[in-house]
Amino acid sequence: MISCHVHPDGDALGSALALHRALANDGRKPVVSFSEPFTVARQYRFLPGIEELTPPDQISRAADLFVCFDAGSLDRLGSLVDAFEGAARTIVVDHHASNTRFGDVNLVDPSAPASAVLCRELLRRLDLPLDPQIATDLYTALVTDTGRFQYQSTVPETHLLAAELLAAGVKQYEVAKAVFETNDIGYLRLLADVLARIQQIPAASLVWTWVTQADLARHGIDMEQTESLIDLVRTDGSADVAAVLKEQPDGTYKVSLRSKGGANVGQLATAVGGGGHALAAGFTSDLDVEATIQRIVAALQAA
Ligand code: 5GP
Ligand code: MN
Repeated sequence: MISCHVHPDGDALGSALALHRALANDGRKPVVSFSEPFTVARQYRFLPGIEELTPPDQISRAADLFVCFDAGSLDRLGSLVDAFEGAARTIVVDHHASNTRFGDVNLVDPSAPASAVLCRELLRRLDLPLDPQIATDLYTALVTDTGRFQYQSTVPETHLLAAELLAAGVKQYEVAKAVFETNDIGYLRLLADVLARIQQIPAASLVWTWVTQADLARHGIDMEQTESLIDLVRTDGSADVAAVLKEQPDGTYKVSLRSKGGANVGQLATAVGGGGHALAAGFTSDLDVEATIQRIVAALQAA
């Protein structure tokens, strides 16, 4: 049984699908799944092996082995928590500094720029060879979690791994096109609305905005399509921290936080029940937009 965190991103999905294919190529019978809501964000639907995903209500609650990628804590497995707890043995493969080491075996390296780096090392040590599909899954994980090789976690070895994956057959422009250059026109129109109401709070070196369910309905898009919105918001040159609040169907807000180095948003998010990395983190807020921002401002000013 192979899985990853709820609402999987490129690193979570790419790593899980890569191990799944490598084991299947080796004659094993792995199963790959992730939590409800069981929908893959559009930009990741091209990933090799995506059609192999099994719905989470159909997977064993008593697997021999459960391997999970990119999840910093057990609750991040969502509706698969019971499947993890029911497995005979568990392995956690992750790169979050906030990882709670909830597996029997924990392959956790906070210095790794992506879980895919650890997945690639796992394949090497298990003598499971790459093929172009596995390489494409791993490359997508790497290029997304490093912000296209620009974030602070990128080191020489990151580029060496990218080179190895390209040599194994990745068509890198196909990945770039699918992930970064295929927006719905509705998303671009939503951006106009959401960026029009962007706010700065200089006293906390914060820039922020929010997305509502009404915005999504007006432009006919899904919240998953707003994953890269924070990457635009964070380009405000006068702010260290960026926040995007995303209204969920239940009225709570999923908060995305990014820092350019001045603030540790991972600590901030962990303190309010979320988690993540020092420079990229998130949490869910029961408060309204104003109260959520006040909470973030207070935490930033206290730090
Ligand atoms: P994003 O803002 O892209 O959703 O998430 C940024 C980072 O924070 C990712 O590494 C993600 O795993 C982590 N993260 C986001 N939301 C949560 C949350 O609610 N709980 C935990 N533990 N981590 C989160
Ligand atoms: Mn990751």
